[in-house]
Amino acid sequence: MSERPVALVTGAARGIGAACARTLAGEGFRVVVHCNASAEAGEKLAGELPEAFALRADLADAAQVDALVEAIGERAGRLDVLVNNAGVVRNAPTPMMKLGDYDAVAALARGTWYLTKLALRKFMLKQKRGRIINISSVVGHVGNRGQSPYTMAKAGLDALTKSLAQELAGRDILVNSVAPGFIETDMTAELPDEARARILERVPLGRMGTPDEVADVVAFLATRGSYVQGSVIHVNGGLYGG
Ligand code: NAP
Repeated sequence: MSERPVALVTGAARGIGAACARTLAGEGFRVVVHCNASAEAGEKLAGELPEAFALRADLADAAQVDALVEAIGERAGRLDVLVNNAGVVRNAPTPMMKLGDYDAVAALARGTWYLTKLALRKFMLKQKRGRIINISSVVGHVGNRGQSPYTMAKAGLDALTKSLAQELAGRDILVNSVAPGFIETDMTAELPDEARARILERVPLGRMGTPDEVADVVAFLATRGSYVQGSVIHVNGGLYGG
């Protein structure tokens, strides 16, 4: 078995997750590059990182989450850091939002909770140490027009961070959130120019963030930050301070 500590990054084939995977590999982790639809990109990224490997799972499907955790056990035998990064957004004014859109967002939130539970039971509680980093969002704190299910899910993720931090502090397991503001990824690429300009007017730093700027904070929590527990660290160019 490898000497490297093992980090699982969900949704690691692109965007913020890919930046987290690269940065954690640079910090000496063996990275499990989780992906779903972007399997080819996930395999490619894993091939570029030392001792990394890619695993595919739809986190909305509990059986696939079970299989993901089993595969990590077989391939790596341990899990030191879990970065719950995978996210899905649906945009529509609430009266127009379809129940299926709500369900897609809620199913991923459920899968994130289930993956966390399994990671704790199978690895971190036995190892008596671990780090869990939840990628939430500024909009879970300030709200956002047209994203009501997503904002609910992200506020819930920060509440999960706080509950787990209390449950797990005595087990040497640290749980924190990183809440990005507006970051240049596929998720924000579809924003119309007008919406983008409106957002930037509210960001004191006057620009969107990069995935690497989020990954830096994730790496801090994964490797240092030994007295940070149950916190939400905002990475948003000054848009909101908590
Ligand atoms: P992105 O480019 O849209 O990527 C989303 C990721 O989530 C993809 O890797 C995707 O995997 C994965 N994913 C979605 N549904 C999944 C499912 N059912 N099962 C497994 N994986 C699934 O998003 P991003 O901008 O990098 O965002 C990453 C995280 O940061 C998300 O949680 C997002 O909510 C949060 N965030 C982003 C911003 C922003 O401005 N970009 C701001 C605040 C918070 P596949 O492609 O392999 O399916």
